[in-house]
Amino acid sequence: MVVTATPLTKTRHVPADSNALAARYQTVLERIREAERRYGRENGSVSLIAVSKTQPTIAIEAVHTFGQSAFGENHLQEAIDKIAKLGDKSLVWHFIGHIQNNKCRLIATHFDWVHSVDRIKTAQRLASLRPEDHPALNVLIQVNLEGEVSKSGAPPQHVMPLATAIAHQPRLRLRGLMAIPSPSNDFDHQRQIFSRLRDIRDELIDQDYPIDCLSMGMTDDLEAAIAEGATHVRIGTAIFGPRRPRHQ
Ligand SMILES: *Cc1c(COP(=O)(O)O)cnc(C)c1O
Repeated sequence: MVVTATPLTKTRHVPADSNALAARYQTVLERIREAERRYGRENGSVSLIAVSKTQPTIAIEAVHTFGQSAFGENHLQEAIDKIAKLGDKSLVWHFIGHIQNNKCRLIATHFDWVHSVDRIKTAQRLASLRPEDHPALNVLIQVNLEGEVSKSGAPPQHVMPLATAIAHQPRLRLRGLMAIPSPSNDFDHQRQIFSRLRDIRDELIDQDYPIDCLSMGMTDDLEAAIAEGATHVRIGTAIFGPRRPRHQ
């Protein structure tokens, strides 16, 4: 793969190791395509979101030169800084973190997608704050599949009323569901948890919600997620390497 070096050499920061980054990025794309083949998914039906949280803008620019346009961030202030710095690029930003009420305005203004809506109130607030000159905000409902009290995400029985509330907001476009299962090394267990999200998706489709996205799968479980129907995998570590401490 040809890597354009221009944006890297101009920076004052220590350049990211773009060859290693290119190799890791390529490996992730191959893992996705291989999982599509193995589990009977259509070639190209799974989209990659590069999770760039804690990574410097220089690394995002490098991955962008490899052809990646969708990036995921979960820490709002850090994301806003990066979006401002990278403003001239045609990047698509996905907010994947916990949504506090006082953060809704910035999320609604600066992001194209939000994966982590888990309350009607948050949906209403995002809708009322989405600027008129922006297209409708793409929204996924985050589902807490394992009933962990401490975790974000709507319990499965709240998903239908939440979907109804989102569908009634013209400034929002309901696209699907997202989940972050607790880590497991057991492939069959990973699949079993992801299949719960797929089942909820199928119930929504049965109720005529025109949703088309299942956001599930990270570095350690992307194959299981693809086997169970993921349309978007959110990958950080496998692309960028270990995360850096924030506020470096
Ligand atoms: C950090 C994060 C990811 C990426 O995780 P990796 O294991 O580094 O691939 C995906 N989704 C969410 C919501 C995250 O916070």
